[in-house]
Amino acid sequence: MRAVVLQAHGEPESALVERVDVPEPELAAGEVLVRVRATSVNRVDCLLRRGYPGLTLQLPHILGGDIVGEVVALGRGITSLKEGDRVVVYPLLSCGTCSLCRRGLEHLCTHWQFIGMHRAGGYAEYVAIPERCCIPLPASIADTDAACLGVAGLTAYHALEVAGIGADDRVLVWGATGGMGSFLIKLARYRGARVIATTRTPAHHAELLSSWGAEWVLPTIPPEATAQALRERFPEGIDAVIDSIGSATFPASLSVLRKGGRLVFCGILTGREVPFNLHQAYLRHLSLHGIYLGTKAELHQLVQLTARGELHPAIAGVYPLSEAAVAHRMLEHSGVGGKLVLIP
Ligand SMILES: [Zn+2]
Repeated sequence: MRAVVLQAHGEPESALVERVDVPEPELAAGEVLVRVRATSVNRVDCLLRRGYPGLTLQLPHILGGDIVGEVVALGRGITSLKEGDRVVVYPLLSCGTCSLCRRGLEHLCTHWQFIGMHRAGGYAEYVAIPERCCIPLPASIADTDAACLGVAGLTAYHALEVAGIGADDRVLVWGATGGMGSFLIKLARYRGARVIATTRTPAHHAELLSSWGAEWVLPTIPPEATAQALRERFPEGIDAVIDSIGSATFPASLSVLRKGGRLVFCGILTGREVPFNLHQAYLRHLSLHGIYLGTKAELHQLVQLTARGELHPAIAGVYPLSEAAVAHRMLEHSGVGGKLVLIP
């Protein structure tokens, strides 16, 4: 089959190579063969391409956790799917037997696997997917829209859920120009919250972020100046911050929260280590939540919202899979406004 494989770690053009001789995946019991109709590029793909800290990938590897496709073959023991079903893939695999799985917390599984990271992903014509990771798609959802939901959409949905975002909450979204930022703004607005969004490129993207629902757009850099502006406008602080930037914004995130405020963090783009003032954190009753992805039920909710036309994923561009390297370079270097979708 055709696939874009991660051949070696490094720059997009040398690392991602299109090949036509990749063996089709073999199905284990409980798996279905999915012909990929669309996939999308996520930040984690770029991190994996460069070499994810602490993770050794078996190369060559196929990236891609966002998968929409059609079931074309069934492994042994499949009961809920048939050939021809169109599905979106829940990208987290859980073991079903660890103590967290047994308590219904499959998304926290001790032995979790992420499709496109721990096993082959969607930058290919075909991919083998466990039956329980497939969510049937209503006909009203386009392939390209559904291909945005499984990673960026799900992480945004889960972040807002964990932060308990409700009507009239004020929430700050750092680095909101990308795929997850677009979902965070749109889904926070859907919950009735008021969004302050930052972007590295306000001159180019302030209007776009406003069109997604951001009430106030500020520059991401320098974070201290953004935090200062926020503290002047909201002296008592804001309700929640969603931070995928990492160490560069962490102190600013803490400084703008109100008493009892919530910080959700889900990225290490600028580093992993931060200073942390325990005294300030307990005096101000702060809650910190680390997350990745979300639950299968939440992805199901996202699918329903999109099917009903209440959520429109922001798609910045659709490219043939063979141009995956171009999409990676755009995502890393030019501040893409929304999601980049790839079609095999
Ligand atoms: Zn488990």
